[in-house]
Amino acid sequence: VPPAAAPVVTGPVRRADGGELRLAANVGSVADARSAAANGAGGVGLLRTELLFAGRTVLPDEDEQVAWLTGILAACPPGPVVVRTVDLGGDKPVPALGLDPVRHGFLGDRGLRLCLSRPDLFRTHLRAVLRAAAVRPVEVMVPFVTEPAELAAARDALRAAAESLRGDGVPYAEPAAVGMMVEIPTAALSVAPFLPLVDFLSVGSNDLAQYLSASDRTLPEVAGTYRAGERLVPDLVRRLVAEAGSVPVAVCGDLAGDPEYARRLVAAGVAELSMAAPLLPALRAALA
Ligand code: PEP
Ligand code: MG
Repeated sequence: VPPAAAPVVTGPVRRADGGELRLAANVGSVADARSAAANGAGGVGLLRTELLFAGRTVLPDEDEQVAWLTGILAACPPGPVVVRTVDLGGDKPVPALGLDPVRHGFLGDRGLRLCLSRPDLFRTHLRAVLRAAAVRPVEVMVPFVTEPAELAAARDALRAAAESLRGDGVPYAEPAAVGMMVEIPTAALSVAPFLPLVDFLSVGSNDLAQYLSASDRTLPEVAGTYRAGERLVPDLVRRLVAEAGSVPVAVCGDLAGDPEYARRLVAAGVAELSMAAPLLPALRAALA
């Protein structure tokens, strides 16, 4: 007698407040987007634009970025799609940037800092995201935010990119929402000053655990102490949800796809978990 197939859970999973939990996918390619659709993702919680830049000695120009983004957007499942503005540096080196990996490791110029220090790169990228948004609506999420002034500068850059497209007569669309990643302790421990600038928050548990525990996330030698950072995340998320009030909180780091952590994150009040698509069926079953 063949073993009974595991039950396929397709119904909604409930949040702590009784609303529906959104189970979304992290994608960085057309294949990922197809996998998100095949695994029943309710949207894309993290579109990793850095993957177009990885390993490049020449940065992709605006048209190449638009083509890459629209190709992925066309394959994404129905539901909201959150495009993360390009998150470079740290563990995502790009030869074209010429960053000294010693001076600019995990504590240097990376993520939003790097975009703000290279306005031309950021402007080209934001124009590409807004042009792609004309093909399919997107939400925009800014990574690696340390303080509100940086987020305000990112929003200014987004506005300026839209104005330049309007001036050029190029079709574009405003983002349906603008949010930020919470992955640096300055934001995780005190999010109130950021709230007037965002429509949603998404916790990057990989970086947050790294910075809480002072343990490089890429070094196996310190994996044990990195876990100590991870163990703090559910409690921090509970406080974050309370401080965020009506602003929804998602989690898109690796802990979102871990059944035990996911259960605790849902109990902490998150509205969405976003993970690698192949993890979705088992996670849905575990939470149901
Ligand atoms: C994170 O930091 O948890 C995250 C989702 O982003 P990345 O792993 O790309 O830094
Ligand atoms: Mg991160």
